[in-house]
Amino acid sequence: MAVMKAIRKTVSGPGLELCEVKVPKIQKDQVLIKIEVAAICGTDLHIYNWDKWSAARIKPAVTVGHEFAGRIVKLGEDVTHLEEGMLVTAEGHIICGQCYYCRTGQGHICDDVKIIGVDINGIFAEYAAIDAENVWVLPDDSDPALGAIHDPLGNAVHAANVHKLTGQNVIITGCGPIGLFCIALAKQAGARRIFASDINDYRLEIARKLGADYAINAQTEDLCKVVKEVTKIGADVLLEMSGSHQAFVNALKALRKGAKASLLGIFSEHVSLDLDAAIFNQLTLCGINGRRMFDTWYEMQAALESLEIQPVITHKFKFEEYEKAMALMNSGQCGKVLLVP
Ligand code: NAD
Ligand code: ZN
Repeated sequence: MAVMKAIRKTVSGPGLELCEVKVPKIQKDQVLIKIEVAAICGTDLHIYNWDKWSAARIKPAVTVGHEFAGRIVKLGEDVTHLEEGMLVTAEGHIICGQCYYCRTGQGHICDDVKIIGVDINGIFAEYAAIDAENVWVLPDDSDPALGAIHDPLGNAVHAANVHKLTGQNVIITGCGPIGLFCIALAKQAGARRIFASDINDYRLEIARKLGADYAINAQTEDLCKVVKEVTKIGADVLLEMSGSHQAFVNALKALRKGAKASLLGIFSEHVSLDLDAAIFNQLTLCGINGRRMFDTWYEMQAALESLEIQPVITHKFKFEEYEKAMALMNSGQCGKVLLVP
């Protein structure tokens, strides 16, 4: 029986383990993928650190990871639309196909979603068995590193594309990988001015490289003040990518009447909002969950033809160095961090 390396959560508690496990068997409707590049998501870091969410959700032992690019090495007998050798990535949400949302074209908010690398074995491994339905074929000559970041880029595309950004003054709070992707997307869309904020100078530097006109450290500068000085009436659009209560509340004050906001950042604390202000200023607040399947993926494919996002990818480690990679992620002195088998 062939074996492979896999990074797994083996016990309920902090840390991960590099294990030797069997190469997975595929079902009729699955493909076997040889992983070329994986990327670490904030979710993987939560699982590594073993926060409250992970303790409630993760049932060890499970292989973690869901962001990847790799090549198909074996097809299940029912798979007819894919071929061996194709360079692919995949949507990490496995949907039920039966609930109200799945049946009305909103599978991204399925009532019974399972997440690769959370609820079932993931892709921090040499091989992964993935449902053919979830596979997304990449251009054969594309950079696998860009293939591996489709999942978070899709979050950014989903959040950015629900509002018109062309000619608009756009605030992006949080310059983690997803906020950084939003900056690149706003630039590509021809935003009038981009105001980006973070509390991390390393990430603000990348924000500048990607085209933020104002890269504001929220610890030393007041985003709202800068936006009001420059725009007079306030910004047209907010893309909230920080999950910071303070960042969100301050950014809302920096919006003009009738402005629109996408909320993607997940708040770790209860957010108290001045809803009257939202009402009288006629704001549109739009929650964003995952990626529309597969509308967002087609939008992403189109955007990638000319999107400048290489500066977001800052580090690459071997599987054996996963502890180092997680420590770096915890330090915040990085953009997107890749892992290679
Ligand atoms: P990340 O943690 O790398 O980025 C968040 C950034 O916000 C960090 O750089 C942090 O320094 C910054 N920040 C913290 N406090 C701030 C403040 N007061 N002002 C400005 N910036 C501040 O996360 P990411 O991977 O880029 O994801 C962005 C957010 O989206 C996270 O909250 C994540 O949990 C969430 N998320 C949501 C979905 C969804 O489907 N809704 C999917 C993926 C990720
Ligand atoms: Zn469903």
